[in-house]
Amino acid sequence: MTDVLISSDSHVDEPLELWSERLPRALRERAPRREHRPDGTYMVVEGIRPRRLSGPGEERVSEAEHARRPGGADPAARICDLDEDGIAGEVLYPTIGLFIHNIPDGALQQACARVYNDWLAEVFSQSSKRFAGVGLVSVVDLPAAEAEIERIHGLGLRGAMLPINPPATRPYNSPEYDPVWARAAALGLPISFHVGTGTDPVFERGPGGACINYVMVGLGAQKTMTYLAASGVFERHPDLHCIMVECGAGWLAWTMYMMDEAFSEHARWVHPKLRMKPGDYVRRQGHVTFGNDPAGISNLHLTGPDAILWATDYPHPEGTWPHSRAVVARLFAEVPADARRSIVGGTTARLYRFDA
Ligand code: MN
Repeated sequence: MTDVLISSDSHVDEPLELWSERLPRALRERAPRREHRPDGTYMVVEGIRPRRLSGPGEERVSEAEHARRPGGADPAARICDLDEDGIAGEVLYPTIGLFIHNIPDGALQQACARVYNDWLAEVFSQSSKRFAGVGLVSVVDLPAAEAEIERIHGLGLRGAMLPINPPATRPYNSPEYDPVWARAAALGLPISFHVGTGTDPVFERGPGGACINYVMVGLGAQKTMTYLAASGVFERHPDLHCIMVECGAGWLAWTMYMMDEAFSEHARWVHPKLRMKPGDYVRRQGHVTFGNDPAGISNLHLTGPDAILWATDYPHPEGTWPHSRAVVARLFAEVPADARRSIVGGTTARLYRFDA
């Protein structure tokens, strides 16, 4: 099998000192940062629970941190890993940056996003076209969001990332976002929404917590996809593409079906009256990323192949590196070759403008 594999969801590991070094001086004390406390070393980001990196007296970061691939922050090492795994290109998301949208102070949030975007462009986008960097765009100020989309496009980033959970005061069916959608569509930048970003972080600590959190964190994808399709965002912006990231694919067919059922069976209450069914807009402009989700593959006849995008989630331990080709061969054993090629790289190449 010689399919071109492109990962629609991979991650970089930002240097822990990135924001302490690069934020404007007045904001540096409040930077996302490494903090040494009596019981260990923590990563501290305003608005979220501090994340422990290592225990008291440990020089090194924790085993999980230590096991990370150097390719997380080093593009040359990363290219070697891609070649070893048979991956032609990747769409890049942050790690610490995933929490930036949770910072309560808007000015700090925007400044942190700009620092990340500059670093991503300098280190990865400028080193190889095999990396499609996705910039962080804050939605606390929508004219500023438009300007940042324009700026990251100029930096060579190839997508924009908004929080999957929007601020409670401004859900994604609000027409206030229209200039943002229009700007991204005009520039050909897809907008993506990574699971776990924005308000409402899921932290169940009781019985079942780990499994509960893993499933619950994906529900933001169902909600945001539904808001965009049902409210007419895709109809008003036919060139806009939106991607729900790391949420799996099995839920998508069901969500499309439920929207369509409401649209036809409860038509009296439906507004706006879209020209097509909501599910048809998802099929045309909506996408979800998954690594290993047999339910998503089984539903291909319902979602169509363009809606689902395969990903490695490199360098995360639950990702498919360095066995991606074997995983793809197994996962797509029953899928026709043309659909398989679209899912494992073709659609991602088109969305993020990878060279053929
Ligand atoms: Mn991811």
